[in-house]
Amino acid sequence: MKFTLDTRRLIAELKELRALTSDIHGAQRVAFSPRWVRARAWLQEKLLGLPVETHTDEAGNFWATLRGASPRELVIGGHMDSVPNGGWLDGCLNVLAGIEILRRIDTQYAGRPPVTVRIVDWADEEGARFGKSLFGSSACSGSLNMSEARGLKDRDGIGLPEALRQVGVDFERVKDSGRELRNVAAYLELHIEQGPVLLDLDLPLGVVLGTFGVERHAITFRGQAAHSGSTPMNRRKDALLAAAKMSMEIYGIAERSGGGVCTIGSCTTKPGIVTSVVEECRITLDQRHLDPTALARMWAEANAASERFAQEGNVEVSWERLWQIPPRPFHPELIALCEAAIMETCGRSHRLPSGPLHDAAEMAGVGVPTIMMFVQSLHGISHNKIEDTKEAHLELCGRAFDRLAEKTMTWIEGN
Ligand SMILES: [Zn+2]
Repeated sequence: MKFTLDTRRLIAELKELRALTSDIHGAQRVAFSPRWVRARAWLQEKLLGLPVETHTDEAGNFWATLRGASPRELVIGGHMDSVPNGGWLDGCLNVLAGIEILRRIDTQYAGRPPVTVRIVDWADEEGARFGKSLFGSSACSGSLNMSEARGLKDRDGIGLPEALRQVGVDFERVKDSGRELRNVAAYLELHIEQGPVLLDLDLPLGVVLGTFGVERHAITFRGQAAHSGSTPMNRRKDALLAAAKMSMEIYGIAERSGGGVCTIGSCTTKPGIVTSVVEECRITLDQRHLDPTALARMWAEANAASERFAQEGNVEVSWERLWQIPPRPFHPELIALCEAAIMETCGRSHRLPSGPLHDAAEMAGVGVPTIMMFVQSLHGISHNKIEDTKEAHLELCGRAFDRLAEKTMTWIEGN
């Protein structure tokens, strides 16, 4: 590539955004809030001077388009919104790297690249206020459940449709934004890894294979309340005992699954007093895997184990599904391009799945060839003000992501 990315400017602009929209507790760009509006206005200013068309779609997603010789589009996505007290890189690194790439492409091709290049800033990726993540991208992909979303309220009782109206978005029309995807040929997203995998391997960059599928269930064991002093140990129907065995069992299930994770995140007991054997114990189980067959097996193993523990303890068990999403594998040819871009940039790469969901999952879900690149997170932590990445790694991710963009343009042309 003749022209290279200005990674120093990328880092300087990330810092500029941080100064504009953070406080001592971290980033404060909650979607639809005044500071988010300000971040978007700042973003628009950054695009002045580039020959791009900009507009906001029906779902509140912001698009910048550099028309190319072909109408087929390379889309680079991210999100300017953050959780309250969020990190300085989550979401906006993707968008600002995209803008820097747009500048490089504009210079290299004198304003007319071989394919059309677009940046999208998805609205409300985090779902921090209404508890529903991926709002803008799921409206655009068409997967948004309208009746569920219509009823969402924030802590002050303000409904999602009302909050959207305040930023000029008509809730009933949000799915019209789907027309934005008409010419999309590939979707790229760079993101800070939100866990410690790359950190532990001492690698700056990784190729994301896809986002985990999720099975989320509540499991309730029912035994019998009985006096803690008068009931012999062998006569108890202790609902907690069965649940406690589950908490051990999931480690083996995850281990056998080859790359999956299981979490029991909550446990409540009734009557929940110090002098009674537990009559009812409800736990939640969250299971994730990239492979749908492995995920189904994890669920089946947990189910069989719960029946076994219930029988051993003379209690009953019932399951209730809380939520589920299938795994969203990324495009095999784009995985290869991403790996090549990383290898050419820093000589070492790693393939890993994403535990958290991202807007990219929505694009992959509607069949858009999709890929994500992760950059190492210094403390392996995100959604926290201590979220950070070494500047040397930020420069590497900018360069590798730019290479991926160039390779993907060539790939689009050849397809
Ligand atoms: Zn994010």
